[in-house]
Amino acid sequence: MEPGDAEIVRLIYEKYLEPEMRLTTVVRWLNDHGYRRISRGISCPFNRDFAARVLDNPFYCGKIVYFRRANRGKEEKDQREEITVRGKHEAIIPEEMWERAQAKRRQGAVRYEKDEPDRISMLSGLVKCPMCGAGLVMKKSKRVNRNRGGHYKSIHYYACRYYRKSEGRRCGFHHTYNQKNLDGAVMEILGQLTRTEEFQKAFAEAVGDSSSEEALEGQLKDLRRRLHSQEHLKYKLGGELDHLDVLSDGYDKAYDAVQEKIDAAYDRIEQLEAEIGKVRKKLAAVREGIHSSGQISRILDHFDCLYRKMTCAERRELCRQFIERIEVFPEEQEDGRILKSIAFRFPVFYDGETAPGDPKLPDEMVSFQLDCRKLPVTVPEAKATYAEIKMYVMEKAGLKVSSLYIAQIKRKYGVEMGENYNKPENPKARVPKCPKEKELAILDALKYFRMVPETEEYEEAEA
Ligand SMILES: [Zn+2]
Repeated sequence: MEPGDAEIVRLIYEKYLEPEMRLTTVVRWLNDHGYRRISRGISCPFNRDFAARVLDNPFYCGKIVYFRRANRGKEEKDQREEITVRGKHEAIIPEEMWERAQAKRRQGAVRYEKDEPDRISMLSGLVKCPMCGAGLVMKKSKRVNRNRGGHYKSIHYYACRYYRKSEGRRCGFHHTYNQKNLDGAVMEILGQLTRTEEFQKAFAEAVGDSSSEEALEGQLKDLRRRLHSQEHLKYKLGGELDHLDVLSDGYDKAYDAVQEKIDAAYDRIEQLEAEIGKVRKKLAAVREGIHSSGQISRILDHFDCLYRKMTCAERRELCRQFIERIEVFPEEQEDGRILKSIAFRFPVFYDGETAPGDPKLPDEMVSFQLDCRKLPVTVPEAKATYAEIKMYVMEKAGLKVSSLYIAQIKRKYGVEMGENYNKPENPKARVPKCPKEKELAILDALKYFRMVPETEEYEEAEA
């Protein structure tokens, strides 16, 4: 430990124990006052994780605790008994101070209860910041409702992890993406992925069709020929070994030299046999016409249904299996488009099924990039202004519709209205109801602008 580090440790404890200070404010204070830490040889700002590790480690008050790290994240029954001993190193802070910091940490932990403890952001880390390339992480906004007291429902966003003050604001990208829209857009694309040219091309190349059968047979023939020649070499070298003159001066040296060649031949034989096994498996899969993408296609085609039954953690896990990275536009596009491209990576198993979460290593990974700009804009992304909808309805159906009617129909078919949309204060107030003819025309416009799915049908029920 450097003297400079000891000073920082002391500072973290002192600041944290000041009455109004919390973990985040300590971190901000350090960064604002120009303190830096060295991580992997690079100078970087302080963050919450680092400060928490310093505050929770008894090492700094001169103690060493065994099994502390090993117990982390384990259930209580599986934990090993922690052993605390006085270390030989010098304490940086008094034990009493460490205890006080711990007491404050425990107090603080209770205060941060989550509204939805199970909620996990599905694409955290997978969506990349258009400015610095780091993974976007969850940002929550909880706005106070000034009219009725309490809070509005929290809205979750994705934001650059390095825009946060606690990270020293290393990136200037402040745009945020509504999670519901972004997650929904990615979901919609996953649902139609197997029908895209990119997916089909990538899998045809990896798994092959009838034309690749010939190529694989050629490969197999070549590998067998090479194996045969290595075996012949091994046999020949064995003979050489037998014919060495035991009585000659250089016998030991010559023996070792030949033996080394034999060892190398064994290694190559093993390698070739493994390769032959792999090509044979692949060939069998192609001959049987089993597309290893079968299971993947089944998962993707029923993604919608599957997704609804999954927990947050399972959804995130599934996305992580298939998606390498997601690129987004840095600013809002005119048609509402957010997604630029998605890089996929699918595991392929030649002997039959591909099951996500399979502990077995895949035989091959199929990677490809999907250019989302070539696909129609997804429903969660799409948006059109009231003026655009009015104009479309006028041109297409020759009808004049009011914003009130459009709002009614949007609400009826579940188009996100945003929190600023005002419902009438008095539910009994007389509101003119949109006639069927106009409703159909507006619904048609909403489909045209992809704000509702193409399959949406007119419902007789009250708007
Ligand atoms: Zn960034």
